[in-house]
Amino acid sequence: MANKRILVTGGAGFIGSHLCEYLLKQGEEILCLDNFFTGSKDNVKHLMKHPKFELIRHDVVEPILLEVDQIYNLACPASPVHYQYNSIKTAKTSILGALNMLGLAKRVKATILQASTSEVYGDPLIHPQREDYWGNVNPNGLRSCYDEGKRCAETLFFDYHRQHALNIKVVRIFNTYGPRMHPQDGRVVSNFIMQALTGQDITVYGNGLQTRSFCYVDDLVMGLVQMMDQSADFTGPVNLGNPGEFTILELANKVIEMTSSKSKITFRPLPQDDPVQRRPDISIATEKLNWNPSVQLEEGLKKTIEYFKTMI
Ligand code: NAD
Ligand code: UDP
Ligand code: UDP
Repeated sequence: MANKRILVTGGAGFIGSHLCEYLLKQGEEILCLDNFFTGSKDNVKHLMKHPKFELIRHDVVEPILLEVDQIYNLACPASPVHYQYNSIKTAKTSILGALNMLGLAKRVKATILQASTSEVYGDPLIHPQREDYWGNVNPNGLRSCYDEGKRCAETLFFDYHRQHALNIKVVRIFNTYGPRMHPQDGRVVSNFIMQALTGQDITVYGNGLQTRSFCYVDDLVMGLVQMMDQSADFTGPVNLGNPGEFTILELANKVIEMTSSKSKITFRPLPQDDPVQRRPDISIATEKLNWNPSVQLEEGLKKTIEYFKTMI
């Protein structure tokens, strides 16, 4: 098949930049669209001279006309600190951004993949989380702009699929980390590594017994691409994440140990609606996409620590 022209919204962000890089290596032509809210040109500067790479400054809240074969819709701040900074804008990005990209996909008959999130499960009452769980989400709290925004985006995706026979792919991404996370991003992996490397206290929110499952970015990118390549009858939603589950305290101790840091752990108040436990059931991804994450936490942290050392 001839090479494809692929739009990656949020392409100058953490996951988006890795995805653009991977797709370029496959010989595809990439339109990387971003408003640089949490992403930056730095993340894609090594791709700028590539003849098949084009960077577009644009906000997905506004309509845009482009001709493409596939769309990966990643545009949206992902760190709680950033998505709560202007929560109304986050909801607009999630919902109007999804609507515009769906309209575009419909016009040009492109396949479109939505970067949904484990946050659609909220503070989950079943564990691990399976795709058929509807979630436990506060509709009007501090995290709602993101959680409900992403849930509404999923609704729009499935309605475009039902009403317009659009070829959609919905993936629910669980906590992903790796090089090119913003050092001041506010998420737990980047915070802990930066704190450990600069000798500051490691800030554990709450008692640190809440759990997360951490997926290395290279594994995640493979999952996104494998999902995009599925036949039209498979829409998802499908969980993508690493089923290894760790308490936040375990993560803090691991980072301290791996950086040989003298930093001490301090405890801070737990943010509102912070999920108590999170771990993906990935049996659908394994069965349908033949996908399994291969990078274990220590190995991924090692690479991420090396990256952050170059940032200091
Ligand atoms: P990120 O903040 O690094 O990337 C998001 C990108 O979207 C940034 O480049 C940002 O500038 C851009 N963006 C934000 N609002 C925009 C707008 N209105 N118009 C155009 N561009 C806009 O975050 P990330 O971790 O790379 O996340 C990428 C996607 O994956 C997001 O949709 C996020 O919700 C989803 N996701 C990520 C994780 C994770 O753990 N990293 C987990 C679940 C879901
Ligand atoms: N849209 C876009 N680019 C396109 C086609 C549509 O940005 O190439 C936007 C369009 O402006 C609209 C949204 O996508 O806001 C949904 O489009 P659709 O055609 O599905 O619905 P309608 O325009 O009828 O509301
Ligand atoms: N967290 C923490 N210290 C930090 C940043 C985050 O203890 O400096 C906790 C946070 O309260 C949550 C977990 O780590 O329980 C993951 O937070 P993150 O913001 O990375 O993502 P979330 O999964 O909550 O969206």
